[in-house]
Amino acid sequence: MILVYVDHDRGVLDELSLQALAAARGIDADVQAVLIGVDAVALAPRLGEFGVATAHVGVHDGLTDYAPMAAGRAVSQLAERLQPTAVLAAGSPRGNEVLAHAAAIMDEPFAADCTSITLGDGVSEVTRYRWAGNVFEEARVHAPMLYATTALHVFAADPQSGSAPAAIVEFAPDLTPADLAVRVLERTGGGGGGVSLAEAKVVVSGGRGVGEAGFGPLEELAELLGGTVGCSRVVTSAGWRPHAEQVGQTGTKVAPDLYIAIGISGATQHIAGCKNAKTMIAINSDPDATIMSFADYAVIGDAATVMPAIVEAVRAAKG
Ligand SMILES: Cc1cc2nc3c(=O)[nH]c(=O)nc-3n(C[C@H](O)[C@H](O)[C@H](O)COP(=O)(O)OP(=O)(O)OC[C@H]3O[C@@H](n4cnc5c(N)ncnc54)[C@H](O)[C@@H]3O)c2cc1C
Repeated sequence: MILVYVDHDRGVLDELSLQALAAARGIDADVQAVLIGVDAVALAPRLGEFGVATAHVGVHDGLTDYAPMAAGRAVSQLAERLQPTAVLAAGSPRGNEVLAHAAAIMDEPFAADCTSITLGDGVSEVTRYRWAGNVFEEARVHAPMLYATTALHVFAADPQSGSAPAAIVEFAPDLTPADLAVRVLERTGGGGGGVSLAEAKVVVSGGRGVGEAGFGPLEELAELLGGTVGCSRVVTSAGWRPHAEQVGQTGTKVAPDLYIAIGISGATQHIAGCKNAKTMIAINSDPDATIMSFADYAVIGDAATVMPAIVEAVRAAKG
């Protein structure tokens, strides 16, 4: 049996965790899920559509919101009791954090961002992203139980309609105050309730070439196309946009149907976050910018004139 940590946030199941369930099912038909917090009780039955027969929900007074160490403790305690062959999660920032805690608590190794996993008796073989996805590492992990996360957007979550809902089994993790030292107490600002960057089908992304005052048309275009705004690290470092919008090695990894890179040069660290886009359009004043070698289509021009023209054309086309 494989145990998969399934994340959720304020009443919404994490779509990236559903990809981890697909990866688990590709290894073993017997997949169980672990979710943290009483809110998950209402969400977990849906996991039946993703091949989960049993969903374990860790319930504790302190687990009212994301608490990485406590979640890791709960996952490790459940794993110790159930003895799965592997404990998996999505290679999202939260999935990696929770499983890193769980593995450390068990004094086991942890393999992050795996693109393939072959379980063995005490030795598993994994292929995983290193160096922001620029290198694939093949590694052997010596552990009786593999703790690993799956690379994002590599495994497709495929719901099977008509499946029986997952059965819910609540458990009470044994947590100390130290486990709950890091947890979300409140959220301020941001969180406009729009499309999440990691899951957006369209990302309109701006770099230094857009300029601080130039993001208005990008926001308009994102809204017209039902997408969201992203940006490069230069932009977040300058404080023009929040870090939550940064795409790349140290930002969010996206895999939209359409990625529009405006005034972005195409540095390796940026491409690491957007190379899984199905179609990329680059808008740049420099025909020799690195981004051109990744783009399916390019517009050579000044973002300050090209962007308003595109917004107007899309608005007209949409009537
Ligand atoms: C450890 C590490 C991690 C990093 N992580 C990330 C990350 O997660 N994400 C990330 O993005 N970067 C990351 N970086 C930074 C990365 O190396 C680049 O510095 C950054 O991506 C460059 O941002 P940019 O393309 O906006 O700016 P620039 O490289 O300065 O490019 C600006 C582009 O705009 C074009 N341009 C200029 N004026 C106009 C105009 N008027 N109209 C149209 N185009 C115009 C230029 O031709 C140029 O191509 C990281 C770096 C390191 C060392």
